[in-house]
This record gives sequence, structure tokens and C-alpha cells, in this order.
Amino acid sequence: MDDIKRNDLISIVVPCYNEELALPLFIEEIQKTEKSMQEKYLVDFEYIFVDDGSKDNTASCLKSMAQNNPKIKYIIFSRNFGKESAMYAGLDKCKGDFAVVMDADLQDPPSMLEEMYQKVTSGEYDCAAARRVTRKGEPPIRSLFARIFYKLINKISQTEIVDGARDFRMMSRKMVDAILSMSEYNRFSKGIFSWVGFRTYWLEYENTERIAGETKWSFYKLLVYSLDGIIAFSTAPLAISSLMGILFCFVSLIFIFIIIFKTLMFGDPVPGYPSLVCIIFLLSGVQLLCVGIQGQYISKTYMETKKRPIYIEREGNIDD
Ligand code: UDP
Ligand code: MG
Repeated sequence: MDDIKRNDLISIVVPCYNEELALPLFIEEIQKTEKSMQEKYLVDFEYIFVDDGSKDNTASCLKSMAQNNPKIKYIIFSRNFGKESAMYAGLDKCKGDFAVVMDADLQDPPSMLEEMYQKVTSGEYDCAAARRVTRKGEPPIRSLFARIFYKLINKISQTEIVDGARDFRMMSRKMVDAILSMSEYNRFSKGIFSWVGFRTYWLEYENTERIAGETKWSFYKLLVYSLDGIIAFSTAPLAISSLMGILFCFVSLIFIFIIIFKTLMFGDPVPGYPSLVCIIFLLSGVQLLCVGIQGQYISKTYMETKKRPIYIEREGNIDD
């Protein structure tokens, strides 16, 4: 394949939360890729590091890195807003013809950037995204729940959520703008990337361990995140709760007829207290569940109507 020489600017967006240990290793590694791609394709890199309210020295680490290298830009959030907000901020501030979202822990190998660039400049694809094919190094229970989650959400949502898809991807300017136009507050990027459409090429790779520091995702956080994803990209739970309502009305109708029939035929010799209690428990449980599901959607709607900003910047070296 001919080398493509187009002077493209590639923006590398890196959300960072307590990554002071990983950052020096990350920058060293990615600059190797930058150098080789610069020579091969004449592309230019810019780095947008987003410090998501870290509690360690990530912010000062970023500042000193930026002093030594004008290509390094940074935004420091006023508090921890979460990775979704950090990605949005980075994409919002980047100026590249192509933008890449990458973790700071080298779990997203920079060596894949070259192939991604070849794909997005081939004219066939707007996006080249990484998809891990193994979940090596992950607790088995987490893998099991992840698999159940992907099966479930793809059944009940029209937006396809690809199993194993990472946020690590290179996107064309058009796709970045489309993502930025989705200014919703409850962000579930796996859904957003897919919802905007465009042609995505999937690059498969093996999971690697993070280079330094530790993962920010506990099992509980992942569970909440997956429920948020379902609510953001599917209204099926609402439909299920209405269906359950209809089903129970139907069942109770049948019961009423049976009871009337029995009373007329045989009288009413048994008071039936235990069965009554069980039915009351069951039905109030179902009712509370359905009200709870509705509450989830209402609370999300409530947050959206407040139109709060997705992130708040405390400091930065990027002028708009
Ligand atoms: N991250 C962030 N804000 C958060 C949590 C994580 O910006 O509140 C960043 C983190 O610094 C890393 C990326 O998101 O660059 C992925 O996080 P992590 O490696 O902990 O997730 P995992 O790879 O284990 O899924
Ligand atoms: Mg990681």
C-alpha cells in the first residue's frame, strides 16, 4: 500500500485520573509511535491530557510535561467528573483532522495507531476502533457479568453495543463533531459511538495489563455504569413493567372467576390467609419494582433538564 502523505493533524485525547505513575511511561511510549508515523506519513500529533480531578500529582506532572513540549495540551477539571466527561472535554478541545481516545495506562497499545490511521485514510472507514477478544487478567465473575450485560443490552436496545469494544479508537473530524453534538449529560460512550453511525473498522487485540497504578473500576461502579447504559439506550424496561402490569391484571381476573365459581359451587369454608399474604407481597414487590424503573428514567430526565455542564475546567493551556 502506498504511504499516505497528507499533513494530517492527529489529536490524542487522554483522560487521566490518578495517573502520575503511568504518564511518564505513556508519553515515552507514544512518542516512539509519533516519531515513526511522522516520518512515514508526515502527520503531526497533538496531545490533549484531561486531568479528571486527580488526587495525586497528575496535574503538576502534566504541567511540567507541557513546559517541555508545546504539543502537549492539558485541561484540569475542578473535580472528578468521570471518564465520559473527560473524553468529551478532550474531543471538545482538540483540533485534529483525526482524534484518538486512549487510556493513560498503556492498555491501549500506541503501536495500533498506524493501522488505525491507514484505515481511516483509506476512504472506506470513518473510524477504526479496538476490540479486545480476550478478557485475560480479569476476575471470571466480572467477565461473566460483562457477557450477560452485552447479551441483554443488545436484545433490548436498537443501538448495537459491541462486546469487548474499547473507547480506544481513531475517528474522523466529522464523527468527532457528531459525538460533540450529542451534549447529553448522562453519557454512555459505548452507545454514543455506535449511535452516531459512520463506518467502523474493528481491530482485534489481546487484553494487556495496565502498566502502573490501578484500575478505577470497582465491581459496583461497573454495575451502576451498565445500568446507566441500559437506561440511556433502551426504553425496554418501561415496556416490560407495563407488560408485567397487564399480565398480573389478567392473572387476577382468572383468579376472580375461579373464586366466584368455587364459592357458588362449594361455599367458602377456608379463610385463606397465607395465600393472601403471599399474593400481597408479590404484587407490592412488582409494583415497587415498576415504580422504581420509572423513577430511574424520571431521574435521568430530571438531570438532563437541569442542563448542567458536562465538565468544569479549573486550569488549562488551550485557547479556544
Ligand atoms: N479515568 C478518568 N476518570 C475516572 C476514571 C478513569 O479519567 O473517573 C481514566 C483513567 O485515568 C484511564 C482511563 O480512564 O486513563 C481508563 O481507566 P482504567 O484504566 O481505570 O479502566 P480499565 O482500563 O480498568 O477499564
Ligand atoms: Mg485501564
